Amino acid sequence: MTSTLLIGGSKIDVSIEAGEMKLTHAELLHWVQTAAESVATYYGRYPVTGVQVRIIPVDGSGVRHGQTFGYDGGLIKIRVGEQTQAAELANDWMLTHEMVHLSFPSMADEHHWIEEGIAVYVEPIARIQAKQMIAEQMWADLVRDMPKGQPQEGDRGLDHTHSWGRTYWGGALFCFVADVEIRKQTYNQKGLQDALRGILDAGGGITHDWELARTLRTGDQATGTAVLSDLYAKWKDNPVQVDLASLWKELGIVADGKSVRLLEDAPLAAVRRAITAPHPSTQTNSQAVSPSAVFAGRSIAGSRSRS
Ligand SMILES: [Zn+2]
Repeated sequence: MTSTLLIGGSKIDVSIEAGEMKLTHAELLHWVQTAAESVATYYGRYPVTGVQVRIIPVDGSGVRHGQTFGYDGGLIKIRVGEQTQAAELANDWMLTHEMVHLSFPSMADEHHWIEEGIAVYVEPIARIQAKQMIAEQMWADLVRDMPKGQPQEGDRGLDHTHSWGRTYWGGALFCFVADVEIRKQTYNQKGLQDALRGILDAGGGITHDWELARTLRTGDQATGTAVLSDLYAKWKDNPVQVDLASLWKELGIVADGKSVRLLEDAPLAAVRRAITAPHPSTQTNSQAVSPSAVFAGRSIAGSRSRS
């Protein structure tokens, strides 16, 4: 079965392969739409004009494995357990992660860490900005997981160390440190979100092969800083440890068991709030994000509006 969702001006063709799913097609389409809305909220529009999302039923429960490809305009394959319940889809991060990949140009293999780092770092922020998740949850997750991105013994910098931790969380750590630094240098007027929108708006989506240094320069132009280029120059060939304890303290994030307390009188509390706040352009640009219609097959099945 194939259905088409429209998000702003973008067409998302969703195909569900044959299987014995407990979930209804409507529940699966709602899941795709929710993920698409979060990514469109973050970027101000859906990153590509068209993409195919192929849902592949597998044994078991939960969203299992996603892959995103840059050919034919964009293709996402994602495996969903046949026993999966709707509540599990509501908490899913994986489809948003895959859709974030659509927004960034394809890189040479040694720079895979930036592709994964952006997807890991942007995914919860996109969902928070779309009101699908709360900020406390993201900060608790980052306090737990960011240390996985620190260089270990024998590390030779992000371009030469292709472990899982350095690829996913080392890349996310790069994004996080860059985000804080851009906000400090611009008196909190710009952030990584502006850099990533700038790269996308300059034509840097997944269907294009770009060179990393050029991509980061394009991002820097959008913030009026050199933060991304400078950080890359320092981190690409060297193991740079980040003083996370100091960063959490400055941002006003205090670990409290499995959750966190957020302090409003910390020196960088405003930076912390700005990282997850809606982008300043959101007020004027909400039409780009709202889905205009949902099509099932060739006939219009219905449309949803959001407040
Ligand atoms: Zn990924």
